[in-house]
Amino acid sequence: MNLIEKANAIFLENFPAETWFERAVFFSWYCDIHDCTYCYMSTGKHTKNATRSQESLLAEVILCKQLGWKFGFLSGGQKAFSQQDFAELLKNIHKIHGEKIWINVGALDKQQLEQYKPYIKGVVGAIETVNPKLHDKVCPSKPIAPFEKMFKLADELGLMKAMTIIIGLGETIEDFKHLERFIKDNGISKIHIYSLNPQKGTEYENAKPPTAEYQAEWIAKTRIAFPKIDIQAGIWVNKVKTVSLLLKAGANSISKFPAIRQFNSEAAKEIENQAKLAGRTFKGTLTKLLKFKIDENISDEVRKKLDKYIATLQKRAT
Ligand code: SF4
Repeated sequence: MNLIEKANAIFLENFPAETWFERAVFFSWYCDIHDCTYCYMSTGKHTKNATRSQESLLAEVILCKQLGWKFGFLSGGQKAFSQQDFAELLKNIHKIHGEKIWINVGALDKQQLEQYKPYIKGVVGAIETVNPKLHDKVCPSKPIAPFEKMFKLADELGLMKAMTIIIGLGETIEDFKHLERFIKDNGISKIHIYSLNPQKGTEYENAKPPTAEYQAEWIAKTRIAFPKIDIQAGIWVNKVKTVSLLLKAGANSISKFPAIRQFNSEAAKEIENQAKLAGRTFKGTLTKLLKFKIDENISDEVRKKLDKYIATLQKRAT
């Protein structure tokens, strides 16, 4: 049995043959760190006030729920909001979404976690690479130790723990041992495995993105080592034909795809097709506009934003 077949068999022993799209909801284009060498924020083109309105974020949350997209996590640049404003945002998202959510907003301290706890199910550590030397180079101002401290605090508070990695930054598959150790040591129950998408103006602008086979290898090794972990595979529009491989490698779900902009596009149709090819039922929809059931109690401002989103989808659905 090759690696992918083995991972697929382990996946099917532990999960139903289903998959879905998870939406990461981003609240800002500003980051206080702004020097991770692969990140758009390192290009210096961000501004302090580039945060989205609460109404726009809440409308997006409603949209995701209606289309059956799961809430991946809430994320954005670090320190884009004050702690109080962020707690208020979480409270409102929780009210509209009806469930606690994951957040990916840097290494939080105990006091922050306690304040956010009523609205969150867990914290995501954006680890990015588990190769220690490479990490120092690509994330010079985002060390790993504070995330490990946050994971310990999460244990104390009964919160779940997730992490992200980006493959293609310069690591090799030999570094999988570091990932295995990190997941074990920190009790990680969910991992987002992205592949590098080179951004203009960054140090990786001319880097060659990793192959789908290499991303699949990381996913498959993770699935085999951790049969019950929740694995999310990040894919870009130009990678939709790789979805079947990534699912067979053991990913539970996919993310990163710009699902609103690409709603009902050939790429969106291909994702649903790829799920079938992998023998999975695709939950939710990237292609069909279903009848929306909107809570009458939402504010006029949120309603207006939502109407705009729906109009965009309607245009794409015809
Ligand atoms: S912390 Fe996140 S948003 Fe900020 S520069 Fe690094 S990768 Fe980009």
